Amino acid sequence: MTDNILEAEQVVKRFGGLVATDHFNYELPRGMIASIIGPNGAGKTTFFNCITGFYQIDEGRLDFDGESLIGLESFEITRSGMARTFQNIRLFNNMTVLENIMVGQEPHLKSNWIGALLRLPSVKREEAETEQRAKELLAYMGMDGKGDLLAKNLPYGDQRRLEIARALASKPKLLLLDEPTAGMNPNETAETTDFIKKLRDELGITVLMIEHDMKVVMGISEKVTVLDYGKKIAEGLPGEIQKNPLVIEAYLGKGVAQAAMEGMDL
Ligand code: ADP
Ligand code: MG
Repeated sequence: MTDNILEAEQVVKRFGGLVATDHFNYELPRGMIASIIGPNGAGKTTFFNCITGFYQIDEGRLDFDGESLIGLESFEITRSGMARTFQNIRLFNNMTVLENIMVGQEPHLKSNWIGALLRLPSVKREEAETEQRAKELLAYMGMDGKGDLLAKNLPYGDQRRLEIARALASKPKLLLLDEPTAGMNPNETAETTDFIKKLRDELGITVLMIEHDMKVVMGISEKVTVLDYGKKIAEGLPGEIQKNPLVIEAYLGKGVAQAAMEGMDL
């Protein structure tokens, strides 16, 4: 039996009359880098929101690491080992880079506000450890020396990287990336692609990403799942997906030659 870190069975999420996730079945083996692709409005982000507890699903089964996600709050899911980044960057703009990463460790801290108020030695020690870990993470991201900058003053690519660093601070087993290279230049995109691979190879983190850049998707995914109108229309290896007529049609409409798809951003 495959060891799946994430399993969805017949998952349905509705918004009024709209079925944003339509009887979706999904399995993500532990240690894999997988992608979900599909046209705008296909339900990709909605699926992330369901897994991370931002939305509760209307029907179906949803398990993470062998436990049901149903009824769990986002912070409980984070604590159980899942972290995400957002399609639109969500950083604390007026906090420093280091502080943004430290916030990411928060689900695991033992200190509470009473301890912080009383300035207990245990709290100070934990703060020092948190800062130390944040610095190590920053170095791992290749952002040494940028810890004291305000998040808003970072170049765009670094802001996206910082979001990943903050997600990593919660020590996830599964990392969900919602369009990690959106808005990046080709250099930043290539670096981020390499970095995502490194996270899996070196840290053993399972990665599920939503991504539009086909070079990124086809370059590092071991499985690609295609959504259209909330439904899975195809799934397989990158090479298979690229040739799938249903996929080409979903993106480009009927009758468009496959040649048009090669090397293009969807
Ligand atoms: P994608 O990420 O694939 O572009 P989304 O998951 O964001 O698509 O959206 C899927 C569909 O669900 C869209 O039609 C969108 O308008 C709708 N939708 C998403 N979130 C909400 C919400 N909170 N309320 C109502 N409709 C929503
Ligand atoms: Mg989206």
